[in-house]
Amino acid sequence: MSRFVMTSSSLALAAFLTAAPAFSQNATSTAPAAPELRVFDPSLIDKSVNPCENFYRYSCNGWLKRNPLPPDQTHYGRYTELSELNRLHLRQILEDASKPDPNRTPNEQKIGDEYASCMDTAAINKLGLTPIKPELDRIAALQSTAELPTLLAHLHTIGVNAFFEMGSTQDFADASQVISSYDAGGLGLPERDYYFRTDAKSVEQREQYVNHVRRIFRLAGEPETQAAKDADTVMAVETRLAKASLTITETRDPQNLNHPTDVARFSKELTHFSLADYVESAHAPASGKANNTEPRFFAEFNTLVADTPIDRIRTYLRWHLLHAYAGTSMPEAFETESWNFYAHILNGAEKQQERWKRCTTRVDREMGEALGQVYVARYFPPAEKQQALEMTLAIEQAMAKDIDSLDWMSPATKQQAKEKLKTVMNKIGYPDKWRDYSKLVIVRGDPLGNQQRVRQFNFNRDLAKIGKPVDKDEWYMSPPTVNAYYDPQQNNVNFPAGYFQPPFFSDKEDDAVNYGDMGSTIGHELTHGFDDEGRQYDKDGNLKDWWTKDDESKFKEKAQCMVDQYNAIEAVPGVHLNGKLTLGENLADLGGLWLAWLAWEEKVQAAHLEMTAKTDGYTPDQRFWIAYAQQWCTQTRPEQLRSQAQTNAHAPDEYRTNSILQDLPEFAKSFNCKLPDKMVSAKACRVW
Ligand SMILES: [Zn+2]
Repeated sequence: MSRFVMTSSSLALAAFLTAAPAFSQNATSTAPAAPELRVFDPSLIDKSVNPCENFYRYSCNGWLKRNPLPPDQTHYGRYTELSELNRLHLRQILEDASKPDPNRTPNEQKIGDEYASCMDTAAINKLGLTPIKPELDRIAALQSTAELPTLLAHLHTIGVNAFFEMGSTQDFADASQVISSYDAGGLGLPERDYYFRTDAKSVEQREQYVNHVRRIFRLAGEPETQAAKDADTVMAVETRLAKASLTITETRDPQNLNHPTDVARFSKELTHFSLADYVESAHAPASGKANNTEPRFFAEFNTLVADTPIDRIRTYLRWHLLHAYAGTSMPEAFETESWNFYAHILNGAEKQQERWKRCTTRVDREMGEALGQVYVARYFPPAEKQQALEMTLAIEQAMAKDIDSLDWMSPATKQQAKEKLKTVMNKIGYPDKWRDYSKLVIVRGDPLGNQQRVRQFNFNRDLAKIGKPVDKDEWYMSPPTVNAYYDPQQNNVNFPAGYFQPPFFSDKEDDAVNYGDMGSTIGHELTHGFDDEGRQYDKDGNLKDWWTKDDESKFKEKAQCMVDQYNAIEAVPGVHLNGKLTLGENLADLGGLWLAWLAWEEKVQAAHLEMTAKTDGYTPDQRFWIAYAQQWCTQTRPEQLRSQAQTNAHAPDEYRTNSILQDLPEFAKSFNCKLPDKMVSAKACRVW
């Protein structure tokens, strides 16, 4: 369970849109022609808007007019545009691989047969509950809490996140080692505050959630009154777990999650739950170092096991089993019901995505490196990898200079910061060594069994890391993904192949726009190593303070400027952004764009570029800022905006544009903006 921070919010949202992946577009069953995507597109600019009043609208209005929100989308932006293009490519790969050709490679057999099984809805509907029946029977056979550890271990191995999550993690104190990790879990709503907010909308959402749980129980064959009673039970159990859990803002501070123990000691604390039985059944280590990320949660779990009647525990487990599988493996009514709550009610989607999209995304998530290996061979030329690496190195150099120039940081801390920067590992495109899927069995015609085996495979793979040295070459995003991340515990930046294309990067465009767009993302990921969370780790990824007290308090004071700036933004009526939750991303946005600017300025000077020469009517610096803004053009439903503001560490895209640019005097200079123009902040923030 690596803790990493990424660029786009899409993936974070996809994590709880279980039945409805966050990406989609208007596509029919035949592949539509790909739209022409450009890094800098003058035709998207709306000249009727004053760039000093609203730069996002100025840069994006043309795109927004051209791209109405498709009914199957909760949001639709440039990241979605490219993700959709990549998904069409993946679909082609999967359709090719699904032809039962005896010459298929073992990986092609797996991805092809998994895709074909997922697409066969007639067979899935016909099988009904039969494939999940053995698991329902196991839960029904639970007679006492003494038997719970063994059953729960089994459920965890097949991806049912009831009560808590167990896996591997890097040791906070020694980043070279992998230890056992026990994390809070077991909720059906997106995060703990959903159980406690008192505004009318939140109360309504809880009622809708209970109704959703009831309808899932009904689909599983329960009579109406029983289903209603059971849904209330689920809500009561989850509310207790939620109450003992940290808020998402609290989980952003690694100090709150750092509670080293060992399995034996942890076992003694769980007086009503035999950890020995659990680890034996899960094939997890029975001894050695562990991290209990949330002690308060596990204390409550222990009490809950002791005082909850066994039939209520069975009910809770039954819900989480059905919830974990209510996707493309189950009869369509389950998936539709799940989509209705998570995508429609919570995030505003109007229509379910087409089957091929859901199945393509499923294979990408399950066997991303098997699919990604083919993708990279077809769509990622080696020259692009080289260009991306050169840009990354240029921006790292800019950061070193930037650190030197800071007026608030002492030479001692600067020295440490530069050491850390020098140690950052740049991972570009895809893994050097592909994941080995040879032990995974995929059977054509058995989608639910396949899903269970995939989850078991991933669980076992994760556990096998415990006690071994950290493998920094591992990737946590698949190669076709349109996103990027920084891993603070490994001090590396990761840019999947899927991202290096228009509208973010093009070898046909000049540096001004490539640096404004992709350069800002590279800078963003780098800055994560020095944001409020990342700065707490040293160059090797250990959670270890390398700051002088004075520098730390200056950093906090400067960061507070951004907390206040974002707290003041009302995303939807009554819901403000959470300045603390989004702080790391906002620092990375501002720092990242600034570093891209510095790196680009170096390029300009080296090439003696004429800054007054116009292309498409804009000077190079203006094109730099417009390219930055145009990566964020996005349509978002109000429901999604609300859940994003409440749960996502990324601010909505409009603010990722305007709020950041308001803080940069260099931007104001390019467009001649002056106070009191809206795009100029009277109290500009600046940290890095
Ligand atoms: Zn980020």
